[in-house]
Amino acid sequence: GLGAQRVAESKKDVLLGGLLLPGFDEQSCASRYQSVYYRKNMTRSPTPYLIKRLREQEALQRRCGPGTDQYRRASERLRSGQKDVETVDGCSYLVLLSYRGLGNRVLATVSAFLYAVLTSRVLLVDRGKTMGDLFCEPFPGTTWLLPLDFPLQGYKDLGEEAAESYGNVTLRGETGPASAHRFVYMHLDHAASKADRLVYCDDHRQFLHRVQWVVMRSDGYNAPGFFLNPAYQEELHKMFPRKDSVFYVLSRYLLHPTNDVWGMVTRFYDAYLKNADERLGIQVRVFDYDDVHFQHILDQILACTSQERLLPGVVATSTGARLPMPAARSKAVLMTGLNSWYHDSIREMYWRSASASGELVSVHQPSHEEHQSFGQSTHDMKALTEMYLLSMTDKIVTSGWSTFGYVGTALGGLTPYIMMKPENQTMPDTPCKKAMSMEPCAQGPPYFDCTRKEDTDAGNLVPHVRACEDMSWGLKLT
Ligand code: GDP
Repeated sequence: GLGAQRVAESKKDVLLGGLLLPGFDEQSCASRYQSVYYRKNMTRSPTPYLIKRLREQEALQRRCGPGTDQYRRASERLRSGQKDVETVDGCSYLVLLSYRGLGNRVLATVSAFLYAVLTSRVLLVDRGKTMGDLFCEPFPGTTWLLPLDFPLQGYKDLGEEAAESYGNVTLRGETGPASAHRFVYMHLDHAASKADRLVYCDDHRQFLHRVQWVVMRSDGYNAPGFFLNPAYQEELHKMFPRKDSVFYVLSRYLLHPTNDVWGMVTRFYDAYLKNADERLGIQVRVFDYDDVHFQHILDQILACTSQERLLPGVVATSTGARLPMPAARSKAVLMTGLNSWYHDSIREMYWRSASASGELVSVHQPSHEEHQSFGQSTHDMKALTEMYLLSMTDKIVTSGWSTFGYVGTALGGLTPYIMMKPENQTMPDTPCKKAMSMEPCAQGPPYFDCTRKEDTDAGNLVPHVRACEDMSWGLKLT
């Protein structure tokens, strides 16, 4: 009965088996405490070893983070250009510059967090224009936002040509025992040069550990590359005995939407999705021209949902009206996209005709922003809201190549049906494929093996890192 259900509900493990720490202020970040009531039970649990490493990271963030004497000394050394020897106070830092769309930035953030844990660095994220409006502080008693008075001049403009880039530092051979660096810049753009990408093979203990400040620029998911580095394999295996859920577990720890975003998520979910018997997410991302609609993409969505039996077909009702069955199953379709035409077309289809299965299909799309915008809080908050709503569906269809879709999928622990990216504005022969795992695809991964540093098919080096379904040169964990 209802009483028993309430008891069961109140017993929900909001701290996710020790993944999260108690003691945060519930009011200031409701999603930390409420998401367990909206999201499915975790399909992969964190290992005790991972939990131990997270507690160590929290302690490090608190001991060395902004506001501490350690941070003041470290930023003074960076400002004055004093190159150092041993990192005093045992505090070293990873500053993340994430960029491009929100999907890219979320993937970069989770990757940087993993790298920070692997190399025992304090993670500080550059907030850009919107980061502070999107996510709560993940670590207790400190901030992960890079202070606005961060003293490195021009750090936001660091690029591949910088003298401090990992590629240039290693090409100059400045990696010996005596080499000193004020900071090193890791350029992990999806199109980075091989010299810069070789940081995936660095074992950190060689010289990077002596560099107190590392600035990382990333626009995507870097984790699969770390799994190819022999120096990290053992540690990563201890943290993640299952490799198919790295983003999923880390994101449940790290990412908690702010109250404003969470309000948008829960109001939409409660109003349109909660009471359905089943929820299907369809994420539509059109790369050609984002404000034009294309018939071949609508055809592809319908071919995919029909092939995979995700949506029922429709029947002509003129041959005899069917009464809806009293206990008809309801299916709520959550669509996301910049354009509303796909949503309007599918909704109209189920309005004008009856579904062949007798199911009642409702179709909902929270927003249609028409164009991608940069640095605008409301726009980014809508995007994040929709990623979370996608993650709360039961099954999901995503657009290949889209980091937006990768995040919606992996946040929810869902294995998606990925629609292959159309070429020449025609529907691909295979409209969609069931993915190997829930993990995001790394779109700019290493393409060499770390022992010989020779180019190779990196999707064949270890069993749990494979070529992505939607991008042959991408790599994903499985
Ligand atoms: P990708 O370009 O598909 O890899 O995904 P990104 O998230 O990195 O960049 C696309 C950006 O366009 C998003 O961050 C949003 O700003 C916008 N965008 C694309 N699709 C949608 C959508 O379905 N809903 C909303 N609200 N914004 C979208």
